[in-house]
Amino acid sequence: MYKTLSEIKQALESKAVSSLELITHYLGVIQQLNPSLNAMISVHEQAAIEAAKQCDQLRASRSADTLPALCGLPIIHKDIFCTVQSKTTCGSQMLANFEPHYDATIVSRLRQAGMIQLGNANMDEFAMGSSNETSFFGPCYNPWSLSHVPGGSSGGSAAAVSAGFSPVASGTDTGGSIRQPAAFCGVTGLKPTYGTLSRYGMVAFASTLDQAGYFANDMRDIALLLDHSAGQDPNDSTTRNYPEPNGIAAEQVGDKPLTIGVPAFMSDHSLPAAISHAFDETLAVFKRLGYSVQTVELPHSQYAVPTYYVIAPAECSSNLARYDGVKYGFRSSNSHNLESLYVNTRTEAFGEEVKRRILLGTFALSSGYYDAYYEQASKVRTLIKRDFEQAFNNVDLILTPTTPSTAFKVGEKTSDPIAMYQSDLYTLPASLAGLPAASFPAGFSEGLPIGMHLAANRCMERYLIQSVARFQQETDWHLKQPNIERDTP
Ligand code: GLN
Repeated sequence: MYKTLSEIKQALESKAVSSLELITHYLGVIQQLNPSLNAMISVHEQAAIEAAKQCDQLRASRSADTLPALCGLPIIHKDIFCTVQSKTTCGSQMLANFEPHYDATIVSRLRQAGMIQLGNANMDEFAMGSSNETSFFGPCYNPWSLSHVPGGSSGGSAAAVSAGFSPVASGTDTGGSIRQPAAFCGVTGLKPTYGTLSRYGMVAFASTLDQAGYFANDMRDIALLLDHSAGQDPNDSTTRNYPEPNGIAAEQVGDKPLTIGVPAFMSDHSLPAAISHAFDETLAVFKRLGYSVQTVELPHSQYAVPTYYVIAPAECSSNLARYDGVKYGFRSSNSHNLESLYVNTRTEAFGEEVKRRILLGTFALSSGYYDAYYEQASKVRTLIKRDFEQAFNNVDLILTPTTPSTAFKVGEKTSDPIAMYQSDLYTLPASLAGLPAASFPAGFSEGLPIGMHLAANRCMERYLIQSVARFQQETDWHLKQPNIERDTP
């Protein structure tokens, strides 16, 4: 089958395949493999088939240049984006029956561009986690090894693309939730600059960090999705202009030779040999492509994990205050007054990790502790941001591995939250600084994928897109496919 949107688009245009055939194919793969992977929370078979028929009719009755640009192409959305045609659960019992009244901006923009939503992907509850194990709907498994996690929080989206459920999927990334699962599942993932994709209709976790993005089998597909969904939205005042619609042709290389920065802290980290080797090999490929390499100092990035795990819980504690059993979502049925309604609703319907974050965050914001925790963390965040500003005076991109290990085993870190948080080591600095960053496949270790991580300066997605696309012309890591063990009945 076709791996990329670009290939599918061509096949549809040349009438080698119909949209109905395509959508039926993907629904078939989902039906066959999802019982093993649990990557989907809902599948919209009927709606997807209807939409495919409409696309085929449209294509038969119109000239190609008057069709919506992505007419008939499939996508899976993370179950954090509001969609009127289905429930949006956010992986939580709290929203298990929540039916939104409006579509998230990225959902409606991609639908207007002609895309067909196959279903909604599994995720950590309220996007809090690095393994997809906190989902109310059960863990999702890694297509490369069913005893390993796919990463999180957008684990379902990454696993779905890796397993061939869809060529592309959306995700969200607050501290690494696109890049880390992309690395664990051997797919490409991009988190754009904060404010590039609208947060309207995306369930909030930590609003100064939350950013949507995409997974695909190659970087060119992600550029295509951004072209049709990024840019200002009157419903989200933090959105920015995305100045280059259709302008980031992946093959088109910037005029000036780019420079890659390698953080000085990399020499202090002891990484598994296979990851160090993949890192060196990735640098070697870029050097062959004409990139120069230089060391950069990012001295405050070493504080990114504690900084993030104060700021994100603080913001989550205030965002999740809305789930009180009154307005919408789960309502406890054993309450005798308003206070017990609040307490029982939240006690019954939030999972352990979400409760831990709410408690930590409430503590960090409480009077007497605010200065010591939240304010202190905000100051360190500014220092991390400044380090990047300085570094980007000298380099265009910063390379690290995406994760300090390959995918870990299901259950391995669930009883040790600190060990789980450490797996975000390399993704958190770019999140705290609001920078665009991508993970792309760059090797394997014992059958599990290795991802490399490039970060760029604010609004410089084009360097990421061009560089990863060039890397993917030189290498074939992104073309490898897992051989999924079937669930034995
Ligand atoms: N793993 C991080 C966390 O648990 C990041 C999650 C995310 O990016 N949504 O908070």
